[in-house]
Amino acid sequence: MRVEFLGTGGALTIPRPGCSCRICAQARERGVPYSRTGPSVFVHGPDVLIDTPEESKFQLDRAGIGRVEACFYSHWHPDHVMGRRVWEALNGDFVHWPPRHRRTRIYLPQQVAEDFRSYLGSWAHFEYMASVGLVEIVELRDDQTVERNGVRITPFRVAQRYVYAFLFEHGGKRLLIAPDELYQWQPPDFVHGVDVAILPMGLAEFDPLSGERRIPAEHPVLRSEATFRQTQEMLRRMRPKRAILTHIEEIDGLSHDDLQEVGARLAADGLAVSFAYDTMVVDV
Ligand SMILES: [Zn+2]
Ligand SMILES: [Zn+2]
Repeated sequence: MRVEFLGTGGALTIPRPGCSCRICAQARERGVPYSRTGPSVFVHGPDVLIDTPEESKFQLDRAGIGRVEACFYSHWHPDHVMGRRVWEALNGDFVHWPPRHRRTRIYLPQQVAEDFRSYLGSWAHFEYMASVGLVEIVELRDDQTVERNGVRITPFRVAQRYVYAFLFEHGGKRLLIAPDELYQWQPPDFVHGVDVAILPMGLAEFDPLSGERRIPAEHPVLRSEATFRQTQEMLRRMRPKRAILTHIEEIDGLSHDDLQEVGARLAADGLAVSFAYDTMVVDV
């Protein structure tokens, strides 16, 4: 299996339009690895896309991926779904009549399917695309796994029950992809010691280099989002062979170079982690 990070930003990508902060200015000037588009990964082998942020069309084109057979959605939040029109761009045939569309299988874990019916018009949009013939919607019950090209994919709920992570298993190798929302998550036994764990970095409540508080202790976001320190605790318990952090928010104010430094300090402290950047490729 080969994981390609199509986008490594969070709800706020880098640069933000018109923002003149140090992080955004550098990203605007230098591009990748400093710039970050919305959260999405592609797993080569099973050939599966996870989530479609706004930049999905651009991300797939940048990666040279012209065909996607299957996609899983992790949860309903806008930063993970608002690039839904990618299925028209990838699959639509607007030349022939009758059209010869391609079709992508869209796997929706149980709660995601339910939430798509309530939020952001996602269900209506997917029904429309299914009626045109661009996608096929497959709803998964919570006990279901999917097999693609010999890879077993198990979606499972994290502590925030509306959000799913995914375990990919192939030839004795295990890959965990948790796209977002790990607040209060205790990694279950079956993900301990995975070969590669991909987790959201968590919010920098404290600047990881200076130690200075960045988010006021009373801010409600700290009662719904995991922090970077909490993520480190999860990794210390889970002990993956390799840990890669993504979903890196602009508001954390950390550049690619800053994160390299954070990684070096954590390694010295016995925790090996790296930070993903757009276009990064990792073999599992
Ligand atoms: Zn997100
Ligand atoms: Zn900025």
